[in-house]
Amino acid sequence: MGPHADAGAAPLHELTALVTGDLTLQVAPPSERTTIEIVVERDGSLNIKAPPTATVTRAREFVAAKRPWIYRKLAEKDALTGPAVVKQFVEGEGFAYLGRSYRLTLVTDASSAVASAMATDPRTTVRLDRGRFHLRASEAADGATAMRRWYADTGGQWLRRRIRPWAARLGEQSVGVEVRDLGYRWGSARPMDGPQSVNIHWATLQLPPSLIDYVLVHELAHLRETNHTPEFWSIVARLMPAYEIHKTTLASIGKNVWLGSVAEHGSILS
Ligand SMILES: [Zn+2]
Repeated sequence: MGPHADAGAAPLHELTALVTGDLTLQVAPPSERTTIEIVVERDGSLNIKAPPTATVTRAREFVAAKRPWIYRKLAEKDALTGPAVVKQFVEGEGFAYLGRSYRLTLVTDASSAVASAMATDPRTTVRLDRGRFHLRASEAADGATAMRRWYADTGGQWLRRRIRPWAARLGEQSVGVEVRDLGYRWGSARPMDGPQSVNIHWATLQLPPSLIDYVLVHELAHLRETNHTPEFWSIVARLMPAYEIHKTTLASIGKNVWLGSVAEHGSILS
């Protein structure tokens, strides 16, 4: 028996969050209820409500039994699922862009070609060059912010070109793309008066282009139909006949996407 042998018998409400496999559920304050309930919030976050007597073991069993239902609900909400991928801003860490992984180099040496290229523009903190991500060593303490900004800037330009043929297929002259942090959603969009645009999570830019296309198509379809009705899916199918394979791949590959979590020194394991 390990050091956590008794943890399962502990009352659920001693935890603020229940982490089980790739799911994290916020534990609601105990209420005078007799059953356990899982609530999937609109943003894809999960809450577990349980009677005061519930144990961690009982809650884990309940989540295990409900797992297919939880995944189905998360998929309906366009939610990303999966464990929090944690990064460290150290030499050799891997970061993905458009489906390929690149190692990180911390730039300190002013004599290197990349460092001098970066020196020409002091605002450049991240650069993808010669098959590696280069980050100014002075920015490593807040590397996540620098990387997010890079995905938004560089990836945003890529997305604005990439969406054009799909938007044309939908019958839109032009559709803008805003890259932002959308929590647990790949994208969001709703029809507006005037120029149309879609929001894409910066983390989406780690995916292969074929899956990013699916996210773009999905959000473009939301410009015509807000909810996931049969009409919505027929619009998606019209734009991208083979969308189902991408939808399925996204649900599995999405677990490996980094959402910005950074390891404190020495605490990469949770
Ligand atoms: Zn949707």
